[in-house]
Amino acid sequence: MKIRRIAAVWAAKIAGFACKKMGRQGVTWAGKIALRLCPSILEELSSQVREKIFVVCGTNGKTTTNNMLCAALEAEGKKVICNHTGSNMLNGVVAAFVLGAKWNGRLDADYACIEADEASTRYIFPAIKPDYMVLTNLFRDQLDRYGEIDITMNILEEMMRKVPKMTVIVNGDDALSAYLAMDSGNPYITYGISRPVMKNEANEIREGRFCKRCGERLNYSFYHYSQLGDYSCPKCGFARPELNFDADDVKVGDQISFRVEDKHIVANYKGFYNVYNILAAYAGVRTAGFAAEHFNDMLHAFNPENGRMEQFRIKGTGITLNLAKNPAGFNQNISAVMQDKSPKDIIIAINDNAQDGIDISWLWDVDFDLFRDESIRSITVCGIRCQDMRLRLKYVDIPSMLETDVEQAVRKRIGDGVGNLYLLVNYTALYSTRNILKKLEEEKA
Ligand SMILES: [Zn+2]
Repeated sequence: MKIRRIAAVWAAKIAGFACKKMGRQGVTWAGKIALRLCPSILEELSSQVREKIFVVCGTNGKTTTNNMLCAALEAEGKKVICNHTGSNMLNGVVAAFVLGAKWNGRLDADYACIEADEASTRYIFPAIKPDYMVLTNLFRDQLDRYGEIDITMNILEEMMRKVPKMTVIVNGDDALSAYLAMDSGNPYITYGISRPVMKNEANEIREGRFCKRCGERLNYSFYHYSQLGDYSCPKCGFARPELNFDADDVKVGDQISFRVEDKHIVANYKGFYNVYNILAAYAGVRTAGFAAEHFNDMLHAFNPENGRMEQFRIKGTGITLNLAKNPAGFNQNISAVMQDKSPKDIIIAINDNAQDGIDISWLWDVDFDLFRDESIRSITVCGIRCQDMRLRLKYVDIPSMLETDVEQAVRKRIGDGVGNLYLLVNYTALYSTRNILKKLEEEKA
């Protein structure tokens, strides 16, 4: 078996290197090749992790939370294997391990932080048997996948039960995630924000309104956003659990700050949803037994990767790229953009490829009317479904410019814009847009 493993590691490393040379997000290829050569490669390599294995699941915030958790463990002096790029299906997870292994087929790692696509947990969990699972939230992804949340929850619960000693670190403010953790029988630790932070005017779709245990409509004393808040069931007594890691004194503006345990956490990010991502990472390191003394230093140095509020500067224009793939994520993105009061241009790119969901009617559930504001100097719509996006904006009386080609749109706004540009893109538009920005960044000013 050892020969196979070494062959798989070599082949994957060479493939990974070749794909990188070709400028591709080619890690999944490396994983595919390794699995073909050595089907048990994931079991073999993950069993070499010296201490613990984390898996991060949930609809939104997986990549940021997982990368932050990895950085927090590294700040504690640990060697960590991590699928940083967010390749979260089986091949991507395998790639993280094989590309992190040495040429002799050995892995030198104390921890692993693995972001896992929910449906792929079926293949990932039995192989790596995680010690901890961080469950961020469960939102509806797209309208054309009705029943998706129920299917996802069934898969996750089945997988949690397969690893009964695994501790679930769960967002207690989300009734769906909390229910899963409680119902699975696994030990669990909760995080959340026990008191209301902002007035919530947005009329968002709330998917978790009904009690998963008995079907009754849940009572909410308040919402943070979407279905996250303080809930209780009037019939069966299901309610938000006591929070082990409770963020207090939460302030969201140009930066985020809050208090948890005896620590004052400060981060240079926008977006209320990032409080949850930071809190999840914090709960993760604390649950693994660290004092998290270096947590603020880690946050200060942390650079979100791969289009999660990723910053670029091109020819004097500051550009922020962010993924917005479903109504809950989009609404949070819009709030984050609007926290920046300075003048700005916006580009929205919407595709309808298979991974995006071909039905994009969910755009009608996003509160675009918040973009009707003095500070928004222009909105450009791009991507395969730019016409739909334009119609959606027109419906709330917001004019937009149409430019099917993202690169053209970016070039034009760099030329005639206010120097502060936000790009909100859905899933398949993300990598191409990021590559365009990287390319423009390298061009001589
Ligand atoms: Zn109930």
